[in-house]
Amino acid sequence: MQEYYRDTWAEIDLDAITHNVKQIKDLHPTKEIFAVVKANGYGHGDAEVSKVAIEAGVSCLAVSGLDEALRLRNSGIEVPILVLGMTRLKDVPLAAENNISLTAHDEMWIEHLVSLPLTTPVKVHLKIDSGMHRLGLMTEEQVQKNFNRLKMAPMVEVEGVFTHMATADSDKEYLGHQIETFKHLIASLDLSDVKYVHLENTATLLQKEFDFDHGIRLGLGLYGINPDKEFIPIEFELKPALKLLSNLVQVKKIKKGDKVGYGATYEAQEDEWIGVVPIGYADGWTRSHQGRHVIVNGYECEIIGRVCMDQMMIRLPKQFPMGTEVTLIGDGMPVERVAAEVGTISYEILCLISDRVPRVYKQGGKIIAVKKMRFE
Ligand SMILES: *Cc1c(COP(=O)(O)O)cnc(C)c1O
Repeated sequence: MQEYYRDTWAEIDLDAITHNVKQIKDLHPTKEIFAVVKANGYGHGDAEVSKVAIEAGVSCLAVSGLDEALRLRNSGIEVPILVLGMTRLKDVPLAAENNISLTAHDEMWIEHLVSLPLTTPVKVHLKIDSGMHRLGLMTEEQVQKNFNRLKMAPMVEVEGVFTHMATADSDKEYLGHQIETFKHLIASLDLSDVKYVHLENTATLLQKEFDFDHGIRLGLGLYGINPDKEFIPIEFELKPALKLLSNLVQVKKIKKGDKVGYGATYEAQEDEWIGVVPIGYADGWTRSHQGRHVIVNGYECEIIGRVCMDQMMIRLPKQFPMGTEVTLIGDGMPVERVAAEVGTISYEILCLISDRVPRVYKQGGKIIAVKKMRFE
């Protein structure tokens, strides 16, 4: 097994991924699950998460771009992979050769696609813009014309039709409006040999209110996180898979009036124990964490002074030995709280954990693999 030489690591519990897939399968027993593993599996490691998710019953994967899809193919994954973003026309043959499905998102793109001299057929999912106004076709006329154009093209297989919801975790009325718009836009299409009609992201599929689709796109929920617990109450448990951990590398006592960190922005109000934690913004732990807390031996300890590139300081309630474990994300400090306190969302906190942080994979309570992306 790979070693790592640093006191900061992300621990990923693969059993939690398995658990989460099973919960979602119970909720949607008839639908195909696309595990969304873009951005290196939301920071968890795309290939590792994908393999476990497939074993647990996921049948397809979705990523953001062709590079991500190719990496999964090269790691031996054979299930369908959908690229959700735009793929450049010059890269379409490469996608086709690797059996990677592409998003057909735009009229001009489709016009060029159908005239490409392909030697291997390419699979596409037609993207419909039902109100988010990111990628996709918007009008009934556009949708019909381009669906038919794709269907007629001999080297194109229309494998899917889909849309994306903008407000499933914040506004049910707009969500309903998007669903109705999508239904209306696909009503006149002959979908009989289209394998996947899909629209539900985590926030939508946790609400389980729609049943005219046959695929769901499970992103954040796969990693054990509900996009908004208040807005979307659920009756089962999702298990967060990732912990971000470190160890104290120095513990010292400073005097009242002493200052801490770049810019000397923190001043001790009394004699205080402080600790140095070897994580910083180059690890994705941004300067916006200053003033927040981490957990040491059950105590909430404030991050004091500016977060540096590789290290930060915390105030301790008492002396702890060097090497004491620090929980940045994990028991007592869920990523939702971390995100709320820096004014962002769990997605961003997770994706920002950089490839300098080793990923340690656990299964059955044991460490089964270590991944050091930066150093490979
Ligand atoms: C990222 C993404 C998803 C997954 O969203 P979650 O909220 O993480 O479930 C689904 N569909 C599209 C188009 C996406 O870009």
